[in-house]
Amino acid sequence: MLPFAVKKLVFYSYKKGMMKMFGCIFCQVAAGQKPGKIVCEDDQCVAFEDIHPKAPVHVLVIPRKHIATLNDDLAGDEPLLGHLLSVAARVAKMKGIDRSGYRTVINTNAEAGQTVFHVHLHVLGGRRLAWPPG
Ligand code: 5GP
Ligand code: ZN
Repeated sequence: MLPFAVKKLVFYSYKKGMMKMFGCIFCQVAAGQKPGKIVCEDDQCVAFEDIHPKAPVHVLVIPRKHIATLNDDLAGDEPLLGHLLSVAARVAKMKGIDRSGYRTVINTNAEAGQTVFHVHLHVLGGRRLAWPPG
């Protein structure tokens, strides 16, 4: 008999793999299986236009790797998460809002308004953004 912890690990790895293959719209965008207006991409991440923009510039930067939320076990993914920020800055420059200003946001879980459970960095700008956020 396998120890419980090993079974749990196998189950969650399986679930994550299945999620990636079938369930996650952002994995599908990253894989080119779902259309997205790509702004830029590299081997680690993809930046694309939000389908319902909340500002004149609204781009989502996602890791190619499926990470559901910032509450996941992120051990080893710190360089990847840092890379998302540097790509966000590149996107802001490409969109011409780096000097005027922009906001980078990651919503986590229900009260923050997370609706897609694949970590994504919103890059918002092109208008004055209220603070504190609603
Ligand atoms: P959240 O609310 O999870 O922080 O942000 C999810 C964002 O993804 C929303 O701003 C929503 O408009 C955007 N979104 C949801 N589905 C799609 C899609 O299929 N394509 C694109 N490009 N954006 C999407
Ligand atoms: Zn995903």
